Amino acid sequence: MTALSYFCKMKLLDGKLSSQAVKDDLIVQVKELKQNGKRPPHLACILVGNNGASETYVASKVKNCAEVGFQSTLIRYNDEISEEELLIAINKLNNDEAVDGILVQLPLPKQISEQKVIESISPTKDVDGFHPINAGKLVQGFPTFIPATPYGMILMFEYFDIDTKGKNAVVIGRSNIVGRPMSVLLSGNYKYGNCTVTICHSHTKNLEEICSKADILVTAIGNPGMIKANMIKQGAVVIDVGITRVEDATALRGFRIKGDVDFDDVATKASALTPVPGGVGLMTIAGLLKNTMYAYLHKDQ
Ligand code: NDP
Repeated sequence: MTALSYFCKMKLLDGKLSSQAVKDDLIVQVKELKQNGKRPPHLACILVGNNGASETYVASKVKNCAEVGFQSTLIRYNDEISEEELLIAINKLNNDEAVDGILVQLPLPKQISEQKVIESISPTKDVDGFHPINAGKLVQGFPTFIPATPYGMILMFEYFDIDTKGKNAVVIGRSNIVGRPMSVLLSGNYKYGNCTVTICHSHTKNLEEICSKADILVTAIGNPGMIKANMIKQGAVVIDVGITRVEDATALRGFRIKGDVDFDDVATKASALTPVPGGVGLMTIAGLLKNTMYAYLHKDQ
């Protein structure tokens, strides 16, 4: 079989389709709220400094809020803001009845403890799902905010109806924002869960061998093109979370975005594969929007 015929059999997990489906549902929900005389959900985004990637992410979050009819407020600070000033600003939003969700774009400048900031956001407005209270609830299987990227991947499984029950899943990466919560969700007793999960990291021995047994492989490393076909089980579902800017003089902005997966190589073996860009990144926004609606609907609980 040629590479092209393998490629044709592979299902492209197109984040444009799955994220639009999530957004279409939210548009309907917002319309109903407005028809009942209620205000739409409101997301407040804090951006500190002018890191290029952060600017892009926040702009996209604001744009997507507008697309589904949410209100959003972008609050900018220069990168010299003190930790205390930022914590005061967050506390103000915590107490603002008109704000449902608060997002502080990471990374933050060195003088500010990200952990302190995460813990200062009210757990009821924590649409990123990073607060330890919400992380604990997730681990124990209680309803809560799910960090947007893993949530987005589960929504993608739902949209494409990827069968996960009883499958061997391998998650590469153990960060609190992607790998660890994804391993929790995939191992949970949910429709798109019930996997037997192995979580890998930089100290994992025999990564290639472990990956090659995965029915579902989720890679959240940040090492462009590291995952090759020889690491993939025939017919595996491969989800590429990685986003790395690689220099490219021919590109308009002087760089392009690459995932962890060597797409053309892995496409010869995978049964389904996410593109980068256009895959998990779009679903992360979808997860954030769903969390903002969740915050709005559960604000009195
Ligand atoms: P982190 O740097 O926090 O985590 C990376 C993980 O990869 C760590 O657990 C690390 O292990 C592991 N790792 C690094 N090198 C190897 C290796 N050679 N073999 C096995 N494991 C390795 O990153 P994040 O989780 O925040 O993000 C991961 C990637 O996903 C990045 O490219 C990021 O830009 C992207 N991302 C994409 C999003 C999206 O919307 N698509 C959202 C969030 C992130 P150890 O713990 O031992 O260091």
